[in-house]
Amino acid sequence: MNKQSILLISHGNFEKVFLEKIAKDISHEFLYPVYLEESSIDISDFYDPMRRQYDGNRLLIEINSFTSPGFTKKVGLFRVDLFIPILTYIFGQATFKGSSGLASLYRLRNEQYGMPKDDIVLLNRFKKVIIHELGHTLGLIHCHIPSCVMRSSTYVEDIDQKSHNLCINCRTKIGMV
Ligand SMILES: [Zn+2]
Ligand SMILES: [Zn+2]
Repeated sequence: MNKQSILLISHGNFEKVFLEKIAKDISHEFLYPVYLEESSIDISDFYDPMRRQYDGNRLLIEINSFTSPGFTKKVGLFRVDLFIPILTYIFGQATFKGSSGLASLYRLRNEQYGMPKDDIVLLNRFKKVIIHELGHTLGLIHCHIPSCVMRSSTYVEDIDQKSHNLCINCRTKIGMV
């Protein structure tokens, strides 16, 4: 197995404890070390005033250009609403077999759907999106096993129904079994 390490680059104010929990769970899932860094870039440059959302494709390019010696995977963490031209919104995206991904908790918040704020639900959803996107960077495609984190998710309900784990098939494909 290749020696991998993951850098989570947060944009905007995230609670330190929240990020640390995520880093720990991601590290458990992949058995790679996970590190945290705060970004200082101004994401207003990526705002699309017509859509009132942030451009996920351009942000992914930005994360990819972020120099991070020693890290094989980088995931940008955001709090804002992200889109790509063909979709109304995205929870996250990644470069297939690449080094970069991104995820936003904006559409993962219960408040977005008129439900009470729930930090545990939010943490679990965000963790699943990040693990899913990291799976794509490792060359995994969408999986049909209902509980597998690589199952595709359009709505938060889809995310809630799957686990944060890779199924045995997916783990085998990336050499973790
Ligand atoms: Zn996917
Ligand atoms: Zn799977």
